[in-house]
Amino acid sequence: MLPDERGLRPETVAIAAGAPRRGPGDPLNVAVTLSSTYHAGGPVGYARDGNPTWTAFEETLGALEGGTALVFASGAGAISAVLEELPVGAVVVAPGDAYTGTRAYLADAAARGRLGVRLVDVADTEATLRACAGAALLWIESPTNPLLAVADIGALVTGVAGGAVQVVVDNTFATPLGQRPLDAGADIVVHSATKLIAGHSDVLLGAVVTRDQALAQRLHDRRTVLGAVAGPLETYLALRGLRSLALRLDRASANAEGLAHRLADHPAVSRVRYPGLESDPGHARAAAQLRGFGTIVSFEVRAGAAAAQRVCERVRLITHATSLGGIETTLERRCSHPGEDWTPAELIRVSVGCEHVEDLWADLAQALEGEDAPA
Ligand SMILES: *Cc1c(COP(=O)(O)O)cnc(C)c1O
Repeated sequence: MLPDERGLRPETVAIAAGAPRRGPGDPLNVAVTLSSTYHAGGPVGYARDGNPTWTAFEETLGALEGGTALVFASGAGAISAVLEELPVGAVVVAPGDAYTGTRAYLADAAARGRLGVRLVDVADTEATLRACAGAALLWIESPTNPLLAVADIGALVTGVAGGAVQVVVDNTFATPLGQRPLDAGADIVVHSATKLIAGHSDVLLGAVVTRDQALAQRLHDRRTVLGAVAGPLETYLALRGLRSLALRLDRASANAEGLAHRLADHPAVSRVRYPGLESDPGHARAAAQLRGFGTIVSFEVRAGAAAAQRVCERVRLITHATSLGGIETTLERRCSHPGEDWTPAELIRVSVGCEHVEDLWADLAQALEGEDAPA
């Protein structure tokens, strides 16, 4: 049952889709089905092929993105399943600042001669479209990580239309409540459900969504043979998280906007990157394309990298940790990560959570204290 077909709004779909049959005495929630095998004669025989808890999650995410969803053990698992689809020698156009794991996959595939890779700035529509000549696949992230550049998804899809270029959008940062790339004409959406969808920093999970039924079947079959499939408990927890995504996203985005404005006015901060700021280069695009401006804010500490590191170590309420999309606020210097040394050393990426904004600001302000003077 896909409630969006009954005209329900996305906030409602997130809560109502994928629910079990309603009958007297029936449970409200899907069970965590722990079974490696099934009685013979049904649609699924073995757990690598399907699971009722997966189905509930997939129906809900599919209804939200407007396509057929497939759950994977992680975002990286979803991403590699999509890229494995490409024939040897195919050319992929991808953001130079794509997610580390995506870039690592592409670099490895290029080194082995399996794929050709062209890295571009996806916020530059003209340059991206030029790079797509002769390519098999365009990979888009928007907003990008951690610089929060905004790609014009509609213009990119239109620009490659009619050609043989498949368009994939990693929608982890925006979530289906922020933007629906399949509506804009993209062929595939991928998610790290580890982040905002699950939302509580307690599971690793991924998903692929597409409207192309033949492709969905191939990805389903590849998932079965690759075998790195999602755990039923992880899937249940991600579905539980997805039920409250709208509330978390509203609060976290409002907090992010509040913090971005205050950081922009702070003497220790030289630059804030957040598409919700009117001064941000991606603001107009984000306002047209996104619902809300997202939960990630990046800022640069004027006094440099060492000062930025001290700020990360001085926070008390906020957690100094990698990853993003949890209900709690975390921050880190991306450049301290393997493969992320290209990011500005004084840049701190904040994944804003759902605490009270005044408590978050008090913590950031105390961590920034004394860092006003350039080193
Ligand atoms: C974390 C992340 C991934 C990878 O997902 P995992 O669940 O960690 O495997 C992919 N894309 C983006 C944008 C991410 O933030």
